[in-house]
Amino acid sequence: MEKEGFSTQAVHAGEAREKAGNAVTTPIFQTSTYTFRDSHELIEYMEGHVEREEYGRYGNPTQRVVERKLATLDGGEAALLFSTGMCAITTTLLAMLGRGGHLVLTEEGYRRTRQFCRTLLQRLGIDYTFVETGNYEALAAAIRPATRLIFSESPTNPHLRIMDLDRLVDIGRKHNVKIAIDSTFATPYNQRPLDFGIDLVFHSATKYLGGHNDLMAGVVVGSRGLVAAIRDMQAMLGGITDPHTAYLLMRGMKTLGIRMRKQNENGMAVARFLE
Ligand SMILES: *Cc1c(COP(=O)(O)O)cnc(C)c1O
Repeated sequence: MEKEGFSTQAVHAGEAREKAGNAVTTPIFQTSTYTFRDSHELIEYMEGHVEREEYGRYGNPTQRVVERKLATLDGGEAALLFSTGMCAITTTLLAMLGRGGHLVLTEEGYRRTRQFCRTLLQRLGIDYTFVETGNYEALAAAIRPATRLIFSESPTNPHLRIMDLDRLVDIGRKHNVKIAIDSTFATPYNQRPLDFGIDLVFHSATKYLGGHNDLMAGVVVGSRGLVAAIRDMQAMLGGITDPHTAYLLMRGMKTLGIRMRKQNENGMAVARFLE
C-alpha cells in the first residue's frame, strides 16, 4: 500500500488542493467547449506545448479528476473514462486490433463482450479464439503470431471464477502479447491487476465504483502510452462520460473503501452461513 490509505486516496487523489471558486469539492464543468486567450495560446496547444482542454469530446476537467483518481486507486499511470463499461471494452479492442489481428478470450464472461467479438470484430476481419476459463495450457496454445491481446474477466460475471494473474502475465510476457483484465467485480479495493504486470484493467463503473445505481460509466486503466492510443480512438468514436455523470462517479468513489469493506463482510457472512 502507498503511504496514503485507500479511502484517503479515494477522497483526495486526482483533486487539486485549490479548486475553482474556492470550492471544497471539484465542480461540474458543464461546458461543451473551451476558449483560448489568443492565437498564440491555440498554437501552443496544437503543437503540444501545453496541456489543457479544447473540446468536450476530448476531455473535461471533472472527467480528468475522476480519471486521475481511478489511475491512483488501480496503481496505473493513466485512466480513461467512457459512457459505459461496454464502451470502454469495445473502444479499447478497436484501438488495439486491426484487420488480420487476433484476440484470445476466456469463454466465461460478460455476454455482450462475447457478442461484440462474434459480430463486429468478425465483420472487421479480426479473428478471436475463446478458451476454457482456467485452462492456461489451452490459453497459451491459442496464441498465434497475429495475437495482439489476451482478455479475461476476473472475477468472472456471473460465476465469480478467479484467474491466476501471475500465470497470465508469464504467458503474456513469454509470447509478447498484452493482457487485459475486466476487474469490475473486484474493484481496486480487492484486486489491482496492474501490480501483477497486467497491461490494461477495465471496470464497469456502473457497478461498485459508482455504487448508487444512478449512473453508467466505464474505465480503462494502464500505461500512459496505451491509454493515449485508446483516447485517440475514443475521440473518433465519441463514447465519453458527460461532466454530470463524472461528478456523480467521483462522489460515489469517495465512499468506495467503506462500502467494499462492508460488502466483503456481508459476503463472508453469507458464505459462512451457506457452508
Ligand atoms: C456490467 C459489466 C460490464 C458492462 O458494463 P456497462 O457499464 O453495463 O456497460 C462489463 N463487464 C462486467 C464484468 C460487467 O459486470
